[in-house]
Amino acid sequence: METILFLAFTEADGSLAKPALETLAAAQSLVAAIPGSKLVAGLIGAENQPAANAIAACGATRFLGVTGPEFAQSRYATDAAAAEAIAKAAAATIILAPAGSRANRALPGVAQRLGGRVDTHVTALAATAGKPAITRWYYRQRMEGTLSRTVRPWVALLESGCAAAYAGAAGTATVEGVLVALPTIRTEVVGQKSPPADQQTIRPDAKLLFVAGAGWTKKQPDGQAHAAEAEQLILGFLGKAQASLGSTKSLVDLSGEGQTVLTFMTHLNQVGQTGATPRHQKGLATCCHGEEPHAVGWRFINERRAINLNAACSWAQGKADVLYVADAFEVMRKVNALLG
Ligand SMILES: Cc1cc2nc3c(=O)[nH]c(=O)nc-3n(C[C@H](O)[C@H](O)[C@H](O)COP(=O)(O)OP(=O)(O)OC[C@H]3O[C@@H](n4cnc5c(N)ncnc54)[C@H](O)[C@@H]3O)c2cc1C
Repeated sequence: METILFLAFTEADGSLAKPALETLAAAQSLVAAIPGSKLVAGLIGAENQPAANAIAACGATRFLGVTGPEFAQSRYATDAAAAEAIAKAAAATIILAPAGSRANRALPGVAQRLGGRVDTHVTALAATAGKPAITRWYYRQRMEGTLSRTVRPWVALLESGCAAAYAGAAGTATVEGVLVALPTIRTEVVGQKSPPADQQTIRPDAKLLFVAGAGWTKKQPDGQAHAAEAEQLILGFLGKAQASLGSTKSLVDLSGEGQTVLTFMTHLNQVGQTGATPRHQKGLATCCHGEEPHAVGWRFINERRAINLNAACSWAQGKADVLYVADAFEVMRKVNALLG
């Protein structure tokens, strides 16, 4: 019999973020697929009651909480101590957590403390004949593997966007407090710095991925580069379409070579073999050649379009559904005008 612990860190307001609700739904499915198994919910944060109430109807047999101001902030020592205490109190055999920065950092160490095993970057959970298995990708998303383990406890960190979020009715849950001997606290979070919302160009939930390639900064038919207009067109489109911004390696590397670049672009925007593999319904590549090391990062983009001056660019070699052979400056000027 498996005791499946859904473990999550609550937000500053005591709620659960969408990735946590996705993991909860995946945990429910696993419980349903393993006869005789049961679900326990474990919450860590400054305040856990709002989260417990929001998932009161999830079918958990117990709601365990490590609550207090010391557990509000991401810190390895306190996060690991809290997760370990909840796992022990639940006598968990399988521990499922959303693959956020806190769980990714603390739970591998917790698995070690518990004498268990951990798998990160999990994309699916299933059970065949009562035997649980996880799915994850290897080799920069080129190979998919399904694996099972006999060692318990087994910790699995589920990537966001891989399951539909739990949407059960709210209620009132009784949270059993789990006491934790506070570890020595050497790390103090003194503040947070984040870019203003309109400069936040990476939007994992966006329907559209807009990729800007190095062509935006290259000399155009008039013999001049137009980086300032490129910035304005790209930011204008992102603002209107609420698209997520991706880039090619060439474009983000240009700054290192001292060339004119788009100031809002960083290596975090890079899509490809040595960049990210984002998941969006649609993708539009602009001024980007579509070479394989870049296009491999489009593995999870369902509908692909590209705008390129060159009809023989790599997108034309079966990598895009639609290729517009056109000047991206002209197209995006028009698109932005149409979007108002
Ligand atoms: C080991 C390895 C790993 C790599 N990993 C990555 C990776 O993770 N991500 C990645 O992106 N690359 C990666 N690369 C690099 C990759 O091979 C390409 O060099 C890179 O993607 C090219 O970027 P680009 O298409 O922006 O630039 P370019 O190849 O310079 O293409 C610019 C394009 O813009 C077009 N263009 C110019 N002006 C306009 C206009 N006005 N309108 C429309 N089109 C226009 C041109 O026709 C051209 O096709 C990797 C390479 C190696 C060897």
